[in-house]
Amino acid sequence: MTKLYIAVPCYNEEEVLPDSAEKLRVKLRKMMDEGKIDYDSRIVFIDDGSKDKTWELIRGLHETDTIFSGIKLSRNRGHQNALMCGLMTLREEADAVISIDADLQDDIEVFDEMVQRYEEGCDVVYGVRSKRATDTFFKRFTAEGYYKVLDKMGAKVIFNHADFRLMSRRALRAFAEFRETNLFLRGMVPMIGYKSAIVTYERSERLAGESKYPLKKMLALAWEGITSLSTKPIKLITRLGLIIFLVSLVMLIYTLVRFFTGATETGWASLAVSIWAIGGLQMMAIGIIGEYIGKIYLETKHRPRFIVEEYLR
Ligand code: UDP
Ligand code: MG
Repeated sequence: MTKLYIAVPCYNEEEVLPDSAEKLRVKLRKMMDEGKIDYDSRIVFIDDGSKDKTWELIRGLHETDTIFSGIKLSRNRGHQNALMCGLMTLREEADAVISIDADLQDDIEVFDEMVQRYEEGCDVVYGVRSKRATDTFFKRFTAEGYYKVLDKMGAKVIFNHADFRLMSRRALRAFAEFRETNLFLRGMVPMIGYKSAIVTYERSERLAGESKYPLKKMLALAWEGITSLSTKPIKLITRLGLIIFLVSLVMLIYTLVRFFTGATETGWASLAVSIWAIGGLQMMAIGIIGEYIGKIYLETKHRPRFIVEEYLR
């Protein structure tokens, strides 16, 4: 039977933790009693260097019920790092790990379906929001627009999926081969491959407390997503440089016509042409240097070149 672990990153979550922990405990006990998961399944909180009572609460939970475990990071390293820590720490213990935020905005009732998909042979099961009824127009517009920009940049992400997903041990082992330190997990997971599935759910409001993702952190994450998955912005510079250089050729013809019809001041023609030409050439040169830096950047990530799924011999 599936030994299921739930990985929950927590940063200053004292307000929401007791409630979330109880809901998760009830859910897992129910799944155990229904024979859907192993009795050794666990809920693991990863304390991301909280400054409030979060860690004391986790310790207390662990002492009252062994279903709860805790991992404490030495300092705040951000949601993506905390989650990665959880996944990597648990990968050899669990058959499958579901990651979920501490505020339980994601629906824990789809755990059953996730486990079912896993047992049918899926290594990754993505939780996807069916609609964003509880989000403000601004949040919905920016978030969905962002997924589209990522797609244009050539990054493969699952539309409307954040970090609520199940990963099998096999997927986690493969994931351990991704050595990069700048993490944008939802963009990296699809790179693993293997069979995957999607389950949809409705995202609700935070149970209690405030969002730990203020606009600033969100923009940082968004930028991280683009820059860690794609080197297309560099290619855009090269292209822009080329366009400006082509414009300079048009300017050259225009200036020569003006010059020979005598409609120019002395020195204007040479200045006008050289500003365009040099500007374009410089931008192209920066772009070409950037192309190499982009390649160096990708090399330094030491991502696995391939992941073998089966070997028949
Ligand atoms: N979180 C974390 N470290 C941080 C910020 C957030 O571990 O530095 C956790 C937080 O405790 C929560 C999850 O990341 O479990 C998502 O945060 P939140 O629900 O506040 O984000 P939102 O849903 O508002 O985007
Ligand atoms: Mg939340």
